Amino acid sequence: MDMGIAGRWALVCAASKGLGKGCAAALAREGVHLVITARGAEALQATAAELRTMAPGIEVRTVVGDITTPEGRAEALAACPQVDILVNNAGGPPPGDFRQWDRDTWIKALDANMLTPIELIKATVDAMAARGFGRIVNITSGAVKAPIDILGLSNGARTGLTGFVAGLSRQPQLAGRNVTINNLLPGAFDTDRLQTTFKGASAKTGVPVDELATKRRQTIPAQRFGQSDEFGALCAFVCSQHAGYLTGQNLLIDGGAYGGTF
Ligand code: NAD
Repeated sequence: MDMGIAGRWALVCAASKGLGKGCAAALAREGVHLVITARGAEALQATAAELRTMAPGIEVRTVVGDITTPEGRAEALAACPQVDILVNNAGGPPPGDFRQWDRDTWIKALDANMLTPIELIKATVDAMAARGFGRIVNITSGAVKAPIDILGLSNGARTGLTGFVAGLSRQPQLAGRNVTINNLLPGAFDTDRLQTTFKGASAKTGVPVDELATKRRQTIPAQRFGQSDEFGALCAFVCSQHAGYLTGQNLLIDGGAYGGTF
């Protein structure tokens, strides 16, 4: 299926690894020019080189910086001739007990996982509407639908973003101008973040990483972790010309892990 987005420009945040990289790769395969960001230069340049090899016809620009800061966002936006597609992503907040979190801890989580995407949407959405095409995808988490107790910072910040997007995406001046805003909710994907979580749990409990991973896999109906490429494929479809009637939605991609009917 041709996604019909070749030649468009996408800003994909936090894209040197994991789910962001999966989205960038899927868009690259569709002929979309890219601005990708991450904090570490080395991994970002390596990813850019991979993308250029995979899709020689596209332009790939890199911006090293923290997307959760005003400077990081300004540099990312300045590198993109026009943002037709925006993929919002950043690292997730740490786990913990809310009794230990002070105001600064909360503000950091809100900045990263709620206010940064909102700032980037604000900076791009009206120009998308004026051009009559725009696709915004926020990478959130399955925890928005089924909260995880130790991830209270993530549950709170991402649900705040979700509520905001539910209202904004339905504005006729956006939806009526072929600008869509949707959230993708990953379950367990085999990325560095998941491995770090297992290593942390293993250090605490003494249970080997492999054993923890196997137990977790068994809780997922698909009996495996997701791969970044399959996450990217969903992202590319949601960003495609075919998905103009899909907006304000929360799409779970979790191998069946969420057990509810709706
Ligand atoms: P990852 O650690 O594999 O990759 C994160 C990427 O983001 C890296 O490229 C890193 O350099 C970049 N990054 C992180 N913080 C950044 C910042 N402030 N500015 C710029 N770049 C930054 O993580 P992942 O597994 O791909 O997760 C992506 C998002 O999805 C996270 O918010 C995570 O919490 C969420 N999530 C992941 C899973 C999963 O199973 N992997 C499940 C639910 C939610």
